[in-house]
Amino acid sequence: MKYFIANWKANKNLNEAVQWIDKFLTLPLRSDSAKVVVCPPYPLIFPLKEKIKNTKNIYLGVQDISSFEFGSYTGEVSAKTLQGLVEYVIIGHSERRKYFNENTQTLFKKTQLAKTYGIEPILCIRDEKDAIPDRVQIVAYEPVYAIGTGNNESVKKVLEMKQKLNLPIPYSFIYGGSVNKDNASSYLDSSEIDGFLVGGTSLDPTEFFKIIKLG
Ligand code: PEP
Repeated sequence: MKYFIANWKANKNLNEAVQWIDKFLTLPLRSDSAKVVVCPPYPLIFPLKEKIKNTKNIYLGVQDISSFEFGSYTGEVSAKTLQGLVEYVIIGHSERRKYFNENTQTLFKKTQLAKTYGIEPILCIRDEKDAIPDRVQIVAYEPVYAIGTGNNESVKKVLEMKQKLNLPIPYSFIYGGSVNKDNASSYLDSSEIDGFLVGGTSLDPTEFFKIIKLG
């Protein structure tokens, strides 16, 4: 079973999200080999949740959560609020580290809160220097130079990084960085790589599905 995680970032409005999911649901997903996680902006979670309620193997995630549990933190979205709405949360994406100054301590708190509220963290790391909190079970290796550039990392280098991480078992190790239908097969052929985090290509349901179909 491979993960196919769509990170929409700050893209799509309500109409576009509905069009995306309506199209995606017409495509023949093989539920035995793919676990699809769609991570839209927060306000789009609920309409998507309604749309996928009778489907198998399509899950929802968010792109971040607050490092505060709940309370007077205007503008924050907490794990407590998200409990029951999503199954996954992306934590530590390099864009959050860069633009929002997220540090290891913050990411550890977020991971812990997600776990407390039954939301599975997908921890993004840029390289082996990024710390991985204890209870993390899904690690997404995303070298910064490969994100949104078309310069995907070679399978060989991705596997070398996995070796360096020396992660405890069981965990899922996924790759992200300019994945598309033309380069996805080489990663999927490796039993050491458990799927993808996909940014740009996930914005188009048909292109995203072309990647999933290779799995
Ligand atoms: C990402 O931002 O997580 C990502 C992998 O983006 P892209 O697929 O566009 O490189």
